[in-house]
Amino acid sequence: MVTKKDKAVEKYANKLYKSELPLLKEKLKRAEEDIIDAAIRWITTEDDDDSNKKGRRVSPSSSQGKVVVDKHKRVCAICEKKYDKDPEDFQIHHVDGDRTHTVTGNLIPVCHSCHKKIHTIANAKLKDYSVKHKRKKKS
Ligand SMILES: [Zn+2]
Ligand SMILES: [Zn+2]
Repeated sequence: MVTKKDKAVEKYANKLYKSELPLLKEKLKRAEEDIIDAAIRWITTEDDDDSNKKGRRVSPSSSQGKVVVDKHKRVCAICEKKYDKDPEDFQIHHVDGDRTHTVTGNLIPVCHSCHKKIHTIANAKLKDYSVKHKRKKKS
């Protein structure tokens, strides 16, 4: 049953919604641009990192690295290659791509080859998205 009160709530909710919608759209637009900018910066950083793999390996002295490796049963999170066989080949990947987001839940141990695959595929998708987004803007 719809009461008068319900209708009033609905009316003001709609008004509020209509006046806030443009702000929301603006926010989303800005957020998207930020994401694309961040993605492009991130793509560049990842490429740079390839020539400097040392900093990204699971360091035996890093307690968080150990926690992450142990949490994932000492195997690559993708192909299940054993960490103990070749610790030098292992890297820590940030699941959400945010390298400052270093909580254990955001980190997975991966071997170099799987790590490369993740980023290659993600980069392709990101580039694809950016291109489509730009096209959409032009039309
Ligand atoms: Zn792997
Ligand atoms: Zn990564």
